[in-house]
Amino acid sequence: MPRAELREFVESLGEPPYRATQIFKAVHQRRLRLFDDITDLPKKFREKLAERADISRLTVEQKYVSTDGTRRYLMKTADGRPVETVFIPAEGRDTICFSSQSGCPLKCDFCLTAKLGLLRNLTAGEIVEQIIIVLNDVYGEAAETPHGTNLVGMGAGEPFLNFENLITALRIMADEDGLFIVPNRVTISTAGIVPKIYEFAKLPDRPHLAISLTAATDELRDRLMPINKRWNLDELMAAAKEFEGSLRRGERFTFEYVMLGGVNDSPEDARKLARLLDKFQLSRVKINLIPHNGAEPLNYNASSPDAVARFKSTLESMGIDAYVRTPRGRDIYAACGQLAAMEKAA
Ligand code: SAH
Repeated sequence: MPRAELREFVESLGEPPYRATQIFKAVHQRRLRLFDDITDLPKKFREKLAERADISRLTVEQKYVSTDGTRRYLMKTADGRPVETVFIPAEGRDTICFSSQSGCPLKCDFCLTAKLGLLRNLTAGEIVEQIIIVLNDVYGEAAETPHGTNLVGMGAGEPFLNFENLITALRIMADEDGLFIVPNRVTISTAGIVPKIYEFAKLPDRPHLAISLTAATDELRDRLMPINKRWNLDELMAAAKEFEGSLRRGERFTFEYVMLGGVNDSPEDARKLARLLDKFQLSRVKINLIPHNGAEPLNYNASSPDAVARFKSTLESMGIDAYVRTPRGRDIYAACGQLAAMEKAA
């Protein structure tokens, strides 16, 4: 619950408003999981709360730990829907990758999550709780959240198709009485829900943006990412251009490009991509090249390291910054495009 709603709820139980702050801090700052552990509340009130409300709506079904330290959590909602969250450790800068939907309605041809279809949108609470569960597992309940913790909305689902809950969750997580993970530490990735890019650009306190591109022509993108038939590259680039206008000093935004062997990884593809991006200030955009993560039902191969290196240098020769993302947690189905509620590690 956002704080205002929590205050109303507390008042409806005949308690003074400062109780809402106590509860908010206990749940989000100390990350307590049971009302009974909030010992600064009177026992009677704790019992009343436990009857009327839940702190937790997710349960952890499985946890997988990769050889590279990445952790994948397979959780379930109270109504039995799968939710996946990934913890990616890095020197001084851990990242938590959360899901915005159970499954995903987009039918990106190269993505395993797509095979699940959409089960449902996650609530704001279910989004926030993923982060709380991971932080408690990694650092322990009540331990302070390390300052360098980053969030990426790059798990299962399309965040911009669950816009309102996403924004509510981000606002709750940014609260200094709570997790205190500020928008500047958060990146949301979209497959190209164009009207929401405009809306996102207008938010006063918005996180960073990444746009999943993966193809530089409508013909190819229609095939790989059918959402392109709804909003094509012209429309997507116009929205991205508008977004560029909302960038803060020194801020950049990202295009993600999944490297599919023999499909979109030729030097000619790189030149087309560079030309597509020549309408932006080159200091304001970068490209993350994501080697494709394979999985059983997907008919794609990862690009060869040579093809990736050539692609990157072609982009760079045209003035575009490109970074190759190292896949993390591939061995436990935790890497990009692999979240499909797999019960077993690879
Ligand atoms: N729906 C949003 C959020 C998911 S982010 C979006 O598409 O942006 C997940 C990222 O992983 C996207 O950039 C997606 O294109 C990429 N991806 C999907 N399947 C992949 C795979 N098999 N290997 C590598 N990256 C993949």
